[in-house]
Amino acid sequence: MMKKYFTYILLLGFPLFGSQSRVAGQSGYQQSWKLLEHENELLAFDADIQLSESEKILDQKLFQLRKQLLTDTEKQKISLFNSSFNEIKPLIESSKLFSVIQEMPKGGLLHTHSGGVTDIKWLITAARKYKECYVYDHEDHDQFIFGQLAFFEKGKVPEGFVSLDQKLVSNPDFEKKLQELLTLKRDRLCNYTDYWIEFEKRFKRISLLLPYRPFFKEYYLKGFQDLVKDKVQHVEIRFIFDELYDFQHGKYPLKTSITDLQDVLKEVHKTDPRFSLQLIYSSFKFFDPQNIDKQLDIAFKLKKEFPDMISGFDLVADEAAGNSIYSFQESWTKLNGLAKKYGVEMPLFLHAGESNSVFNKNVLDLALLNNQRIGHGLNLVYFPKAMELIKKQDKLVEVSPVSNQILGYVSDMRNHPARVLLSNGVQCSINSDDPSVYGYEGLSYDFWVAFVYWELDVKALKKLVFNSVNYSSLNENKKREAVAYLNRQWDDFIRKTNRELN
Ligand SMILES: [Zn+2]
Repeated sequence: MMKKYFTYILLLGFPLFGSQSRVAGQSGYQQSWKLLEHENELLAFDADIQLSESEKILDQKLFQLRKQLLTDTEKQKISLFNSSFNEIKPLIESSKLFSVIQEMPKGGLLHTHSGGVTDIKWLITAARKYKECYVYDHEDHDQFIFGQLAFFEKGKVPEGFVSLDQKLVSNPDFEKKLQELLTLKRDRLCNYTDYWIEFEKRFKRISLLLPYRPFFKEYYLKGFQDLVKDKVQHVEIRFIFDELYDFQHGKYPLKTSITDLQDVLKEVHKTDPRFSLQLIYSSFKFFDPQNIDKQLDIAFKLKKEFPDMISGFDLVADEAAGNSIYSFQESWTKLNGLAKKYGVEMPLFLHAGESNSVFNKNVLDLALLNNQRIGHGLNLVYFPKAMELIKKQDKLVEVSPVSNQILGYVSDMRNHPARVLLSNGVQCSINSDDPSVYGYEGLSYDFWVAFVYWELDVKALKKLVFNSVNYSSLNENKKREAVAYLNRQWDDFIRKTNRELN
């Protein structure tokens, strides 16, 4: 009996001290819990950010704004988590949180495309001013599709095309129809659409418009001005090179796109001297390896001539339909030789893992190639070893939340895989991919979505914003200047917003 008693004391403590040991036990549990919580926080992508006192104050205010927004939507029985971006867009625009995020400096937009950067409503208004602009008014056909825009010389207009301006004058409703034909919406999360087919049709409808040299310049000037307005100071465009043309001279060499963009930049610099631009030479995943070799050669030639304008190389298109990155392995092995031949490096910025399938293994290549940033990386979370390597190699994932929902990869934004990446310490930035095709401009919508659905705080916002400059392709000097400028803008934003939100 006595022995049993001593065993009891040894195991559970003397009964007189029972209450004390229970407290000690609880406190041990609490300590372990706190430690585990802290260890998790240390793994997060923003663990190195220390907020200032005024940033902490703003953090509290934004937390309250989001809480209020969620309470209000709850009261109005708005199904925030089961609604498409298109359904909640008016709600986003009317929220106080949105006006705060619009004022937030965004740093760089690292992932957008040449055909998706400029507002569609503006595009229609600008295009109709050209008397040589036409729209295809017949049903879809092998060569042209309904609503396709193009420039033609008088007397050389193919059958089926009518003057855009005349069409809009005689049928004012057509403007709305054309807007719909040029934008892709996921109206309701449960509707069926073959998103990539519809997505590519949007690009086809403007593909003959953009290479027309006078229009080309206008298009990018407007796109850059809208980015500046949304507090974006740097942009890197996945750029599909086309020969520009006009009717006086015919076709121009490829590099005219670059020199014209440099002229456009000069125009932007008159009002915003800090704005910077780089191009990622982009080709298509559905090309064969021989064609990709040719594309790489062109990209190297352009980069040799314009080292500060061309940052790298990418392949785009629906990953489920195109070739795998692995299938171009021979092309990738030639990169070192080409770098020696041309005297410039060609880092890759591949789209990879824009998929929900484990059978798409494109993310594996990224850890093995000189691939500095990853476009999307949605299924990276299913390849933990690759994810670990990408984290170790300090490569950034360019996340585009709105695009991912519209193209059908994510429905409830709370379940976006980027949350797993962020909490595992994989560096990310926020991007808009093809905002004009999705019916919006700028980067604020994507930040709003990330802030609300991923329960971010100011620490996370700050890290995402600064990542977009730190992982940009700017050279060291320009990057230092860009970070210093961003720091000033950021401090201003904190000060002003704290003053405004009482
Ligand atoms: Zn993209």
